Amino acid sequence: MIQVEHLSKHYPDKVALDDINLIFPAEQTTAIVGPSGSGKSTLLRSLNLLERPDQGELQIDDLTLDLSRPITTSQILQIRQKTAMVFQEKALFTHLTVMRNLTEGPIKVQKKDKQVAETRARELLEQFGMSELTDRYPYQLSGGQQQRVAILRALAMSPKYLLLDEPTSALDPELEAQVLRVLKDLAKKDTSMIIVTHNMAFAEQVADQIVFIDNGHVGYNGATEGFFHSDNKRIKQFLGAMS
Ligand code: ATP
Ligand code: MG
Repeated sequence: MIQVEHLSKHYPDKVALDDINLIFPAEQTTAIVGPSGSGKSTLLRSLNLLERPDQGELQIDDLTLDLSRPITTSQILQIRQKTAMVFQEKALFTHLTVMRNLTEGPIKVQKKDKQVAETRARELLEQFGMSELTDRYPYQLSGGQQQRVAILRALAMSPKYLLLDEPTSALDPELEAQVLRVLKDLAKKDTSMIIVTHNMAFAEQVADQIVFIDNGHVGYNGATEGFFHSDNKRIKQFLGAMS
């Protein structure tokens, strides 16, 4: 479980997140939705300390951090071992093959044996029907394939929590569908996922719970069905604008 309590993040001219209290259960998929500029990315990035909140508490399983106090490198490493982030823009190593993209982190960061890392990479590629891409370079892949490799690269690190920030927004609808299929498979396998998305149909299909961030506040946190059938005026207005 990832939990934040009284989490706040201020920029000089903007309160990006104001007193956020949330629980992200393990083995569930949480979709973070909300208008542009509402604080979704800031929240997601705060969960693995890519963004440094000013205040509050962050708990990941048995590790609890007071965010208003200094955080040690070893605490950051502990958090990064439990979480892996997939970004909106493909962020593959362009000079490395798909195989090397999948094994670089496990070998260099996690000090895994090369053979162990390669076996795991082959398993992942096979599991997601992408074995034929093993020896290609990123420029030889479509955008959708690149993004699926980026997701596998995060999975290759065996994170407990997978964090995704609009993983399909740079893709056209057909390629988006390919990537969403991979994410749906992962959701079915009880992967612990937190996904920022603008795709409401996808959120409704895969998410166990919805977090609606509105102007730095939590506007809704609860069951997916309750969100999409809410009588709340603001939620209806948001969903109306998204459809
Ligand atoms: P989008 O849907 O467009 O990606 P978002 O919900 O992810 O938006 P954030 O990126 O979290 O929004 O930004 C929240 C607010 O904080 C925005 O108003 C943004 O302009 C502001 N902000 C983000 N980063 C900075 C920064 N480095 N300095 C100042 N303000 C920032
Ligand atoms: Mg964002």
